[in-house]
Amino acid sequence: MKPADRVQRVPPSGIRRFFELAEEMDDIISLGVGEPDFAAPWAARDAAITSLEQGKTSYTANRGRRDLREAIATDVKKRYDLSYDPDDEIVVTAGASEGIDLAFRALVNPGDTVAVAQPCYVSYVPGVIFADGDVCSVPTRKEDEFKLTPEVLAEHGADDAEMLVMCYPNNPTGATMTEDELQAVADFAIEHDLTVLSDEIYSELSYEHDHTSIATLPGMRERTVVFNGFSKAYAMTGLRLGYVLAPAEVSAAINRIHQYTMLSAPTTAQFAALEALESCDGEVVEMREEYNRRRNLVLSRFEEMGIDCFRAKGAFYAFPECPWDDAEAFAEALLEETGVAVVPGDAFGEGGEGHLRVSYATGFDELETALDRIESFIE
Ligand code: PLP
Repeated sequence: MKPADRVQRVPPSGIRRFFELAEEMDDIISLGVGEPDFAAPWAARDAAITSLEQGKTSYTANRGRRDLREAIATDVKKRYDLSYDPDDEIVVTAGASEGIDLAFRALVNPGDTVAVAQPCYVSYVPGVIFADGDVCSVPTRKEDEFKLTPEVLAEHGADDAEMLVMCYPNNPTGATMTEDELQAVADFAIEHDLTVLSDEIYSELSYEHDHTSIATLPGMRERTVVFNGFSKAYAMTGLRLGYVLAPAEVSAAINRIHQYTMLSAPTTAQFAALEALESCDGEVVEMREEYNRRRNLVLSRFEEMGIDCFRAKGAFYAFPECPWDDAEAFAEALLEETGVAVVPGDAFGEGGEGHLRVSYATGFDELETALDRIESFIE
């Protein structure tokens, strides 16, 4: 028995070996994680518990509970001015991850080219390959603060692609894009007839300007699929709940695959998510403020240390230049000698070389200790 070729075309995650190393060590401070260090707001957890006490343990509608879809529609309208019909334009998924995979499978025909703005979250490239598509890498540049521009899109041949995947606020760089900057990408997408898959899972973690969804720009709604969810803003990674917003025809295709592969997203998590939308705005603001305090600490400490780091404005990552030429060797030595884990930037694709992803989803005091250790390491 042999795995299918398309699976073998996807290499194992580049950071796995690194985390295996970290697991064997004591006194580790991990700045390598990609998830909130907070627990989900209590009201959301309580709603989940109550739903279990009431025996609500059955499947839901394929698209997710109607009240949750309505709450999502209201929420994305209020926050981002996005208008989606809860009946046929929203699918609740097992994390944004499931939504991303479904969208590739629903939209990519064998041999279609998908432009992937990089460095990026590690699932996009495998997702395209699992859907039998071809990847066109579009490395963003440090001099552009890792924003996507029409110039890099054209330079890397994205005008010939069928689709574009992008994520702002970005994992791993922490880059964000303003409305004007997104408009330039939207113009490119319209001119070259690209479908845009926009991962906006960090939309609530934008520290210096409001988040704009590319789907709100003129002519974009009909060519955009938006992914979002509860993992980051509501610290609910383990509950596995996200959603996909898309025009009805594409939403139906996504739902068809979801219906046969997942049936419905986790029911308990749907109750938690509904409560989160209804009553947990305050906690989202508090968590954002705390991330922002840590972001300022990380950026100012790097500056003091002489580490070159662009001003990341979103998510919970900084993306400094590595003080050594070999970022992997640096990350490994830093881990072995100081117990601080960071991730080499090239684990996130082209454009990440020579950088480090430093997550500040770690308590303030631990973060300070980790930064002290980095400082003594590089002296
Ligand atoms: N998209 C991005 C950019 C991420 O960084 C992550 C998780 O790290 C995900 C999606 C996965 O989100 P979920 O937990 O909703 O599947």
